Amino acid sequence: MKRTNTIKTFYTPKQVCRKDIANKSTSKSPLKPLLLMNFLEKNGFSGIIETTDEFHPFVKSDFLIAHTKDYVDDFFEGGPLAEMNGLPWSTELVDSVCYTNSSLFHAIRYACLHPETLTFSPTSGFHHAMPDSGSGFCTFSGQVIASLKLYREKGLVGAYLDLDGHFGNSIPNSASFYPEVKEAIRMNINPKFSHHEYLEDLSIELEKLFAHIRAGEIDYVVWCHGADSHEWDDLGYQCSTEEWFRASEMFYTGIKRLEEELGRCIPVTLSLFGGYRRDDYESVLSLHAGDLKMAAGILLGQEISYTPTVNPKIIRKDFLLLDNESSSSQVTRA
Ligand SMILES: [Zn+2]
Repeated sequence: MKRTNTIKTFYTPKQVCRKDIANKSTSKSPLKPLLLMNFLEKNGFSGIIETTDEFHPFVKSDFLIAHTKDYVDDFFEGGPLAEMNGLPWSTELVDSVCYTNSSLFHAIRYACLHPETLTFSPTSGFHHAMPDSGSGFCTFSGQVIASLKLYREKGLVGAYLDLDGHFGNSIPNSASFYPEVKEAIRMNINPKFSHHEYLEDLSIELEKLFAHIRAGEIDYVVWCHGADSHEWDDLGYQCSTEEWFRASEMFYTGIKRLEEELGRCIPVTLSLFGGYRRDDYESVLSLHAGDLKMAAGILLGQEISYTPTVNPKIIRKDFLLLDNESSSSQVTRA
């Protein structure tokens, strides 16, 4: 029961949309895979990240598993529903979305086939998508599509730990359109509350998850530690830096203990989900990198000498209050 000592990462530059999205939208999600992969390389993760680009992009028929034909057609062709996701439409965005959704599916599938391998899909932009439209920077329900495919292919049942700061509505929304989702996805854990209560709620949900795994009712787990559950994120409030990493530690140590108890590896896949800081995007990347460092240390026994740096949020109005005479656009840290 020994885990492989690398994180198999389903990444291709084709899953990145390089169009000038940052200036037109709050979300850098379409660029995030590239920014994070560069950040990891720069910060000593090269030995632990084993990249594979051996996966084909999804095609229209894959998206039709969990979306209406009108919406899928509109998104592919730039029709009226194409920008319901809140992102400027482009053919490059269409191409990248076909790869992000495929990356997640193949990462989960690989972990199921090779439970000793921790897999990683550096992707986001799934969990608010509705069956008939995009929503909140999300285009298609990548988790729902991946899980329905695995359920149909192999009868496998999954659980998502969605620690993004926002509720992952795409799973319950899809289940009301496609009842099979309830069979394919047993749990969609979104911790409630904030700070201490948030961690307590996570702890309760983890115990339920582990009980289902012990009972053979959940076959694989997807950990999506969105950085917008951090209190300094533009769209988040739930956790301090210490609490955010405590959540990671609770998950990885819990899985590790359960693996020892069961005498087998549990298929685990990591994904990114949200994270929005216009003042300091490196802090978003640091949180994700710190989470990966913890995964490597606890699950794989591989130490990485990286220390996450999460900077306090820069608040422009404070500077203006301190220095009324200045008309500059300088900023200060809160
Ligand atoms: Zn979010």
